[in-house]
Amino acid sequence: MQPSKVYLIDRESLWIRWDDNSETKIPLKKLREFCPCATCLAERANQSSTFIPLMLSSQTEVKNIEQVGTYAIQITWKDGHNTGIYEYPFLRSLAEQSTE
Ligand SMILES: [Zn+2]
Repeated sequence: MQPSKVYLIDRESLWIRWDDNSETKIPLKKLREFCPCATCLAERANQSSTFIPLMLSSQTEVKNIEQVGTYAIQITWKDGHNTGIYEYPFLRSLAEQSTE
């Protein structure tokens, strides 16, 4: 499945329309919190279960989004972090976990 459109909504959510016309909306905070890069994975692995992540606004604002091949998008955050490659199935699973 490929995205046909990717939008940012109110600087708070990433909204993806897929080529089957289904839609996925993911809060940016959640995207950053679950950044799949090696650095962030290691950081999360070291956190205790009571750790509450403190997000700076520069960490949850998107500066740029680029498509990576046919399988993922790469997000550059305002604080310069850009090593997270978000594969499409991962994005869909993030959205499905959300309880709004
Ligand atoms: Zn990361």
